[in-house]
Amino acid sequence: MRIRHPEKINKPANPIKKKPEWIRSKLINSQEFFLTKTIVNQNKLKTVCQEANCPNITECWSKRHATFLIMGDTCTRACAFCDVITGKPKPLDPLEPYKISSAVKKLNLKHAVITSVDRDDLDDGGAKHFHDVIIETRKNNSNTTIEALTPDFLRKGDSYEIVIKAKPDVFNHNIETVPSLYRKVRPGSRYFASLELLKNAKKIDKNIFTKSGLMVGLGESKNEILQVMDDLKSAEVDFLTIGQYLQPSVKHHPLDRYYYPEEFEELKVSAKAKGFLLVSSSPLTRSSYHADEDFTKLQKKRINQTNAQSIG
Ligand code: SF4
Repeated sequence: MRIRHPEKINKPANPIKKKPEWIRSKLINSQEFFLTKTIVNQNKLKTVCQEANCPNITECWSKRHATFLIMGDTCTRACAFCDVITGKPKPLDPLEPYKISSAVKKLNLKHAVITSVDRDDLDDGGAKHFHDVIIETRKNNSNTTIEALTPDFLRKGDSYEIVIKAKPDVFNHNIETVPSLYRKVRPGSRYFASLELLKNAKKIDKNIFTKSGLMVGLGESKNEILQVMDDLKSAEVDFLTIGQYLQPSVKHHPLDRYYYPEEFEELKVSAKAKGFLLVSSSPLTRSSYHADEDFTKLQKKRINQTNAQSIG
């Protein structure tokens, strides 16, 4: 059997806390769920829904909404919160842009979310491949909007620019946690590099919607969350998602606590007050959860904002 996280073998075991009653995945076993599964399997695609063991999979797949994981299933980073396999990845699949494009067509997606593992082994971090997947997907699905949920392309210079040049409708990069926890939770990443990436994406293309996500329950304080909101706002991020961290195994970063649903509401109010165009905050919010409906909301909010500014 393949060991999913070889780097965590010698880590101490952190017992998993029992989930509260408000963290329950919806059990929907619809035909649509199996159709999504069939299309994903037939095209030999990877999804973050499966690889990260997402609690929303039955709900999302029942709406034919799957988030594609490109550039393989093996990540070169070893984040302490993530369940995606770590190790040495295989070479890129040159046919992947066509496979993704074809799956988006078969699923008849209105909004496609494409994400990837970190590929620190590649000179450009996989930016060109990401670009090619976006371009090919758009070519065959002209009515589908595209959300690119990218790695940080750390130490890969300006390689990320090619992803933005492919003009995804949403450029999404998750900040994940507060800066004081980066060393433990995201040891291979840098908080300010992630912020810079989001800021630069907006600088390069003002029309692009930028989006970022934060997990809570890792041991951060409320003040630290508010500071991250301020930092993301300064980077002109449009859309913020906030969800509960769920500890994937005893070898992962220990869960500090489960936030109450009311606390997610409070965080939403704070983030809205700071001026984000859209905020999604709930225990089961994930970066790609309800991404299609939220994209429609983003478009409407921008139109309303532009109208209000022109009247003012
Ligand atoms: S929330 Fe995102 S990752 Fe989870 S099942 Fe839905 S689409 Fe997949």
